Amino acid sequence: MQCPECGATHIRKNGRRKGKQNHICVTCGRQFIDAYDPHRGYSDAVRRECLKMYVNGSGFRAIERVKGVHHTTVIT
Ligand SMILES: [Zn+2]
Repeated sequence: MQCPECGATHIRKNGRRKGKQNHICVTCGRQFIDAYDPHRGYSDAVRRECLKMYVNGSGFRAIERVKGVHHTTVIT
């Protein structure tokens, strides 16, 4: 987790907005939401498992059900 404003990694949780985790940068005070960069939202391990399921014939919606990863995210 990194501040989109100043790049600092000293981040604090700042409650939830519209169901998403809100964060605040301790260094510059910038507030931002978890999904600032959706392409980095999941770890390599989770991505690899999703890809493996897809290769094995699971549909995107099945992966979504099992992994809790939204199917549009799986596609990207
Ligand atoms: Zn900052």
